[in-house]
Amino acid sequence: MKSNEDKIYQILHDTFGVDEFRPSQKEISLRALDGEHSLVLMPTGMGKSLCYQLPALIFEGLTIVISPLIALMKDQVDQLKKLGIEASFVNSSLGKGEREARYGNIKRGKYKILYVSPERFRKKGFLDVISHRKISLLALDEAHCVSQWGNDFRPDYSRIREFRNIIDNPVTMALTATATVNVQNDIIEKSGLPAEKIKIFNEGICRPNLSLEVFDVIDEEEKYNIILEQIAGCNGTVVVYFSLIKSIERFAEWLDIKKIRYSIYHGRLSPEKRKRIQREFMEMNKTLMLATNAFGMGIDKPDIRMIIHAEIPDSIESYYQEIGRGGRDGKSTRCILLYGQDDLAVQISFLQWKNPDVIFIRNVYTLLKKLGEHVNSYDYEDLQEKVVHKQRDDHRLQTVLNLFDMYGVTEGTIDAKNLKIVDEMPDELMEETFIRTKMDRDRQRLIDMVNYAKSSACRREAIYKYFGMGAKKCGNCDNCRVLEK
Ligand SMILES: [Zn+2]
Repeated sequence: MKSNEDKIYQILHDTFGVDEFRPSQKEISLRALDGEHSLVLMPTGMGKSLCYQLPALIFEGLTIVISPLIALMKDQVDQLKKLGIEASFVNSSLGKGEREARYGNIKRGKYKILYVSPERFRKKGFLDVISHRKISLLALDEAHCVSQWGNDFRPDYSRIREFRNIIDNPVTMALTATATVNVQNDIIEKSGLPAEKIKIFNEGICRPNLSLEVFDVIDEEEKYNIILEQIAGCNGTVVVYFSLIKSIERFAEWLDIKKIRYSIYHGRLSPEKRKRIQREFMEMNKTLMLATNAFGMGIDKPDIRMIIHAEIPDSIESYYQEIGRGGRDGKSTRCILLYGQDDLAVQISFLQWKNPDVIFIRNVYTLLKKLGEHVNSYDYEDLQEKVVHKQRDDHRLQTVLNLFDMYGVTEGTIDAKNLKIVDEMPDELMEETFIRTKMDRDRQRLIDMVNYAKSSACRREAIYKYFGMGAKKCGNCDNCRVLEK
């Protein structure tokens, strides 16, 4: 009989068309096949998915992959299908007919790998079909969403323990590209498994080819000039990240005067337009992209040579995630952060918008309840006017709508004109302390980011420390270079 090791090598060769593993992939796959749990911290683009896809093909039962990234599921599944792997996904993007068809397939024993969003575990129909299958492996992608310490907390995600129970406690693999020590502990705790049962694989987070630099800037003019100077010296693709769409627009106007070509990407463009811009970006050899943090999910262009942050991001996690899109080909890539006091003020107002108080949350709930289905005759701006009186830049309403969606208080969206209340407000959203604790965490993360910008110590060491890993001075950041002189 073949050993698991022989089997995974054979599948690696026959199905995935490669012969060698990247660091730790083999050990992680084998560990799952031995029935042991893992927490995998691996930078994007390093072959994280292979860690669960390989054992999934050997296991007798079904592998369920929980992911919050609905927009990526179809691509992930299409890629697996191209390799001849029986995979599928179920999420809210499917129509009823298609969903029922897939449910039928699951029941009949089809598929080796099934991607679902965490909300699925609230649906009776789904729970019924998976009860017909033996679940061999549970992969929890983007596992940092479990934690309120993280950037993208999703309440449904914090129910992993319950999910595991529902599917009879299979082998579990949590995977993420970023997790601070707090987040790692939270993932383990929420899984309901004792810490000693989960092995952590921490695969290094910051690629050595990324050179980290910070420039202090006094005003916009200085900032624009620095950006221009840096991109002029770069022979390759550059992404410039901004916090606000209106700062992108202002900078774009300035570039127009200088007759410099660029592309723009942000969340308020139509989905069709975003798709087109993304496609063009992937195809072009040398391009300048101005974007908000909406740009990045699913961007896997190997040769981005420079990532500039024109405005300070909200946390080291966000910063690290965004620079992680640079230099995937391993070649030297510069990551430049421009730090100015005015931009910090923008982040501080973000903090307020991202953390509306209990009264505001309740007011939105009351308003939605009162409007009933009439809410869908309004667009977002109209609704905003009803709850926010001071300024149009106040996006607390968006935060509350996101929260309601995350907690299952509402279904649908205002854009799709199908928003409706389906449940009561959860206790958490009515607790002042819960809301305040979140605010304190967000504030602390911003302080850590500012300290990074102002620090005169090795940048890479600072990031590693933040993620709970030891590191030596990198010799490849602005501060190391100053010290070496
Ligand atoms: Zn350094």
